[in-house]
Amino acid sequence: MLTDCDLVIFDCDGVLVDTEPITTRLVAECVSEMGWPIDQAYAAEHFKGRPLGELCDRVGERIGRPCPELAEIFRERMYAEMESTRIGTIEGAAELLDALGALPSPPAVCVASNGPRRKMAISLSSAGLLDRFGGMDSPVIFSAYDIERWKPDPGLFLHAAASMGIEPSRCVVIEDSTSGIEAAVSASMRVIGLANLTPASALRERGADLVVGCLTELLPMLRC
Ligand SMILES: [Mg+2]
Repeated sequence: MLTDCDLVIFDCDGVLVDTEPITTRLVAECVSEMGWPIDQAYAAEHFKGRPLGELCDRVGERIGRPCPELAEIFRERMYAEMESTRIGTIEGAAELLDALGALPSPPAVCVASNGPRRKMAISLSSAGLLDRFGGMDSPVIFSAYDIERWKPDPGLFLHAAASMGIEPSRCVVIEDSTSGIEAAVSASMRVIGLANLTPASALRERGADLVVGCLTELLPMLRC
């Protein structure tokens, strides 16, 4: 699949950078403080990879009052924590980028995230991956906030492909969340599911063409 495409679209959180343990813990903490006690596992299962606005809506319904302040409280804590912690790289991400770049006809690569650009900048830089995509001003870094459409809406992936001049059928998406798999399927793109936090069965059910437990499993198919 990866040797027969023109663009590989990487999700950011959970595919390139190991931010999900931080964000799911903070979601659980903030939501619990608003009056709906949930743990990190629940936050990961129900809110990982979903738009922050949707989280506020769900919590508001649950506690019986709107809570738009939740987004700001969560973001402030997330930035504070990410700026004071070294964010790890997802295992195999750097090797996969190297292997794609070494193909005889390398596909283009880009990043497409539901997160804001500031979060992408902090995490990709901390993990040592930002330079590989040409920095935050590079035309291959896409945030859902740029177009105000969040996965599972396919808009972000379609925007990325169109910006890079590549047909959706020639794109392969790599995603770790069910919302990202849904977005890729809706965009008529092929999609590889990375089952590091979300169960493989859940990614397959949403339509992943291939599911791996670790990005290193993709390396053998790139060796010529
Ligand atoms: Mg993700």
